[in-house]
Amino acid sequence: MNVLIVYAHHEPKSFNGALKDIAVAVLTEVGHQVKVSDLYAMNFKAIADRADFKEMLEPDYLKYGIEQRHAYENDALADDIKAEQEKLRWADLLILQFPIYWFSVPAILKGWVDRVFTTGFAYSKGMSYDTGGLKGKRAMLSFTTGDPFDTYAHNGRHGDIDIVLWPIQNGILRFVGFDVLPPFIAWSAARGGQEIRERHLVDYRGRLLALERTEPLFFHLAEDYNESWRLRPGIEARTPGQRTMARDECVSLRNAQVLQLGSSLLAE
Ligand code: FAD
Repeated sequence: MNVLIVYAHHEPKSFNGALKDIAVAVLTEVGHQVKVSDLYAMNFKAIADRADFKEMLEPDYLKYGIEQRHAYENDALADDIKAEQEKLRWADLLILQFPIYWFSVPAILKGWVDRVFTTGFAYSKGMSYDTGGLKGKRAMLSFTTGDPFDTYAHNGRHGDIDIVLWPIQNGILRFVGFDVLPPFIAWSAARGGQEIRERHLVDYRGRLLALERTEPLFFHLAEDYNESWRLRPGIEARTPGQRTMARDECVSLRNAQVLQLGSSLLAE
């Protein structure tokens, strides 16, 4: 299997560095091919701007998505973007290795997604989710947190980790077609102490050795939705994003509160 690790940490001696190194060692040891995009070491440009295109349709008014498609179709994307897309074509599995920042990925990794998952290559109209440009490939998050598991439990102060990860696992990885493997999470990597970190390294090794037997997370397929992309009646919402209070319920709750407020004002 070909594995691409996209690694986003500025310090080689960090715990993220250790997780990246162990992944390279274990995967190579069992016969996989591994490439690493070390974003800070590459000084990877995180900002999406006009320098990303060697030629433009409308140089006077940058419409980034339109230029992405045009450049993709005309082989006019910047060389660093093309190189990352080539690695993705090669890869069977993508691992994103990062410390969680503000409930998300560090800016340099978000910039990698913004610039590399171009329209035409990763998604376009009619080419998303089950039919996304990277379908047939698998992806996995491997990340460290500052805070412990309990704060990310379903009733924890930060909220359910599955919901925290929904924008990344669904909104990015699944959107472009990946089968998404359950994440590897090294809780409290900095504050947890040496013993906990050593345990994380052992656990990660186990996860890496079991990769080929690991079932991806569940996402609803296109056929589960109606023409407005809402789950058909009778289809039970089974994902973290869809199981949370549906937007209609939020809106009706808000409307009920507004109505209640209105009627109490009238009664005064
Ligand atoms: P490091 O501090 O680099 O490493 C931790 C320890 O591991 C060090 O003592 C190091 O020496 C040791 N170590 C290195 N290699 C090994 C090894 N082989 N074996 C054993 N030990 C080793 N946290 C949250 O939970 N939620 C957030 O939303 C969040 N947002 C953040 C936003 C920002 C901008 C920042 C800066 C931090 C945020 N954090 C958040 C905290 C952050 O996620 C953690 O600091 C980070 O995950 C720790 O990982 P690290 O690799 O940087 O650890």
